[in-house]
Amino acid sequence: MEYLADLEKIKTTTADCTEFITNGIKNICDSFGPRPCGSESEKRAQEQMMKELEPFCDSVRRETFKVNPKAFMSFVPHAGACLMGSTAINLASSFGKISKKKALGSVALIGGAVAGIVGEFLLYKKMYDPLFKEEISGNVIAVRKAKGETKRRIIISGHSDSAPEWTYTYKLGSNGVMAVVGYAVAGLGYTVATTAALLSGKKAKKMALGQLAFLPAYAGLFKFVDHNNYVDGANDDLTGCYISSAVMKYLSENDVRFENTEVVAILTGGEECGLRGAKAYFAAHPELKNDGVETIFIGLDNIRDGDFMMIYEKDMTGMVKNDKDVCALLKNSGLKHGEDIPVGAIPLGSTDAAAASQAGIKAASLVAMDPAPARYYHTRLDKADILIPEVIEKVLNIVLQAIYDFDEKGV
Ligand SMILES: [Zn+2]
Repeated sequence: MEYLADLEKIKTTTADCTEFITNGIKNICDSFGPRPCGSESEKRAQEQMMKELEPFCDSVRRETFKVNPKAFMSFVPHAGACLMGSTAINLASSFGKISKKKALGSVALIGGAVAGIVGEFLLYKKMYDPLFKEEISGNVIAVRKAKGETKRRIIISGHSDSAPEWTYTYKLGSNGVMAVVGYAVAGLGYTVATTAALLSGKKAKKMALGQLAFLPAYAGLFKFVDHNNYVDGANDDLTGCYISSAVMKYLSENDVRFENTEVVAILTGGEECGLRGAKAYFAAHPELKNDGVETIFIGLDNIRDGDFMMIYEKDMTGMVKNDKDVCALLKNSGLKHGEDIPVGAIPLGSTDAAAASQAGIKAASLVAMDPAPARYYHTRLDKADILIPEVIEKVLNIVLQAIYDFDEKGV
């Protein structure tokens, strides 16, 4: 089947679908508001989206998973506390107030800060999870089966939870938040240098005093993420959820059923607290890797800024490689719709595609956000009134194209 081959037969257009998407997002934001992972509002928003998906799909279900939502971003204040402790130890040591042995505590604290950054943030390991309250979140899985034998499976996905507000992005904008991060990272570097000088036997009093200049940065880390104030996440990532749902609507209302390709929409929970929903889904479904069906995963996240569309071949701050064939599929689909989308690396953070790749599923993600980061990113500004329908429709076309092309040839 060729996408848009017989346009005159199409009853529901991508323009109709785009209206469904923007209305749906507005309704979720108005009715349920912010959706912290594991919250009642995340669950109720998912139930609403399930209701909307039901007429388009053969099956719609919600699978729950256990999660410790506040663990992931806790590496930020944890690093701040470790560096404050290290500063105190180095000062005491340089003024001869503590023994050499005790001065080694500074090394341990620096190690603790770095371990948190690497473990939780760079590798998305569940390092601190046992220390935080457990909640129940869920993933919505909607399936449109193949007519005949299933030989291929394509999963389109967005995440339904929203993020806690990033205080400095909201208050200071993209340069401000990067300055706060840079200030703290410089403090980490300076602390490492001071600790090394002290361990080599130098008194380094002036250096140790210099560490005081970074205390405001460390204190600032405690307010970096505001768990009392979650955002609407209209763009991040109800756009991904609703484009996934609109794919099902388009296929269903235009009576498209592929002979051998199953189409799946997954609305994950808990992406903002470390891809926990996608991780739980792939852990619960090892058959996706070995049931003989060629399976690919396309993650859609934050579809808004048309000038900044990107296909992420490198995910999880560059630590995870997504699949080059899935990237090529998206690239070619873009070209067929007049978009030469760059294939590249996510600057910081991760998308659900990384969890799929780690689970051995061929995956890539498509994102359309100013990586500066955008002013609305993880702030209260990410509301339904800043959606950009033209970009949403463009991406919907590209995704539908990718589905039809995958059905034809696989990857
Ligand atoms: Zn997101």
